[in-house]
Amino acid sequence: MKVKVCVLAGSSKGNAIFIRIDDDRFLIDAGISNREIEKLLKELNEPNPSHLTGILLTHEHIDHIRGLKTLAKKHQVKCWTTYETYKKIRPKTGPIDTEFIEIAEQFTIGSVDFIPYEIPHDAVDPISYVLSKKDIKIGILLDCGKTSPYLFDGFRNLDILIIEANHSFDELLHSSYSDVLKERILSANGHLSNWHTAEFIIETKPKIAIITHISENNNNPETAYFEIESKVESESVNYKPFYVLVPSKGRGALVSYSAD
Ligand SMILES: [Zn+2]
Ligand SMILES: [Zn+2]
Repeated sequence: MKVKVCVLAGSSKGNAIFIRIDDDRFLIDAGISNREIEKLLKELNEPNPSHLTGILLTHEHIDHIRGLKTLAKKHQVKCWTTYETYKKIRPKTGPIDTEFIEIAEQFTIGSVDFIPYEIPHDAVDPISYVLSKKDIKIGILLDCGKTSPYLFDGFRNLDILIIEANHSFDELLHSSYSDVLKERILSANGHLSNWHTAEFIIETKPKIAIITHISENNNNPETAYFEIESKVESESVNYKPFYVLVPSKGRGALVSYSAD
């Protein structure tokens, strides 16, 4: 089995993750323009987006759906999301061929199984995904206010975890953001800090941790790596994941993985 994962974009300006397992190709969120997605897929030697098996949405915020309308219509790619999220995006996108999913109910696209998990975030019905095929297991956790044992259980023993590390707590506290915005980001419906991300990695122990959605203003890949790696190192014995840090501008590295 061959797996390719690439975070095409990972910041508050736009998010899109490409995952290929054998011949099934998925996009998690489409928060950058269709043109960008076409260009980035070409860079990865992938055929054009019409070969995507599906687009799966995490929630309706613009940095996750910006390119959805054009991508879905021009390339006739089907979308999967909850009915509540679809109702929110429908006025912006018009009708899109969509399949509705239920939280915690497994569904299959192509030969890949998906489980959507409910997460806390200031959106109407935010979710994260764990996808699997035979022994391969990949989890995606973006835009999440806080973690919980429910999420730890669902995300344990992944081959690849793609997780947001939005802010460094200290940098956010001392930033020029308004108190209202700071409170929103730090709230249980906001975003994960480097500290939360480290804790999640310690609890779930993925083989590869791809760190994304790093704030340009209150974090950076070096700080995120330092804060996460040092906490994981000091609090876990005989465990060290392989880290991939996604820059806030430009795409992340292509991760290729194979399993029998
Ligand atoms: Zn976001
Ligand atoms: Zn969001």
